[in-house]
Amino acid sequence: MAKIKYYYDTETCRYEELKRTPSEVLINIAGFVILASLSGLLFSYLARTYFPSASEAALQEENQQLLLKYELLSKQMKEVDAVLAKLQERDDKIYRLLFEAEPIADEIRKGGVGGAEKYRNLLDEGLKREQLIISSFKKLDQLKRQMYVQSKSYDEIVKMQAEREKRLASMPAIRPVADNDLTMFISGYGMRMHPIYKVRKFHSGCDFAAPTGTPVYATGEGIVRMADYDGGYGKCIEIDHGFGFVTKYAHLSAYTVKVGQRVKRGQMIGRVGSTGTSVSPHLHYEVIKNGQKVNPLGYFFNDLTPEQYTKMLEIAAQDRPSLGGN
Ligand SMILES: [Zn+2]
Repeated sequence: MAKIKYYYDTETCRYEELKRTPSEVLINIAGFVILASLSGLLFSYLARTYFPSASEAALQEENQQLLLKYELLSKQMKEVDAVLAKLQERDDKIYRLLFEAEPIADEIRKGGVGGAEKYRNLLDEGLKREQLIISSFKKLDQLKRQMYVQSKSYDEIVKMQAEREKRLASMPAIRPVADNDLTMFISGYGMRMHPIYKVRKFHSGCDFAAPTGTPVYATGEGIVRMADYDGGYGKCIEIDHGFGFVTKYAHLSAYTVKVGQRVKRGQMIGRVGSTGTSVSPHLHYEVIKNGQKVNPLGYFFNDLTPEQYTKMLEIAAQDRPSLGGN
């Protein structure tokens, strides 16, 4: 039963019964309901914040673990990035310099999707976790591209090394006769007294005086492109070494190779003689580089000590006449 409330009326000087209109009652009820709901919400918020449920606590724990794993991953990616940077530096500064190749352009290295810096900055800015995960994937993608470029670069270096080895094997690099004590080297490249015409003429190679029949050797790997009589050169062999190099061996008495044959450095190709324009048995040897006859003295580097090289320079400077007409 509802309580009856009274109030003191100053006009009638007595207590009168308090009567509420239905709307006042309704407002009171609504007020109570709103207040109760708000209290409930506040209570549940506080309870959730300070006393998480078991599943929420597990989720929070998992989040912490994920964050920790993410931080580890970030650290590892930064380390991989640093290793890659070192490899790239070594590639540019050592290998490419060694093979005289151009360093790889930065845009190519970065795989065309922006540099590592971009993502490194993102990581430091404390973005939301979702964004961090996206940026981590982007960063991984970036690293994969960079590593691909790097591995391609190494492939290229291996190819360059093979090419370099082939070039080194092919270049004329030894003397064409076994002149260990330098007694055969008689006349060098340059202006020399012609032994027959007795006038100074240009000597386009160098002469090694040796008995007829002395073995003559190929000075680099290549293919015999000529083994035939060639006017003043007499019996003559030409070897094409590739890379713009040709060597010529003149005044021979015999050939021991045929045209088209592949020869190695040091392989016997013929014998010393005195055919063609020649005053005595000797080998006239020429090195032709890109069509120009050059001084063969610059191409004996594989079998000369510095002392022997100096001695040969001295002999060449003595201006002795050549032994043949070329
Ligand atoms: Zn000569």
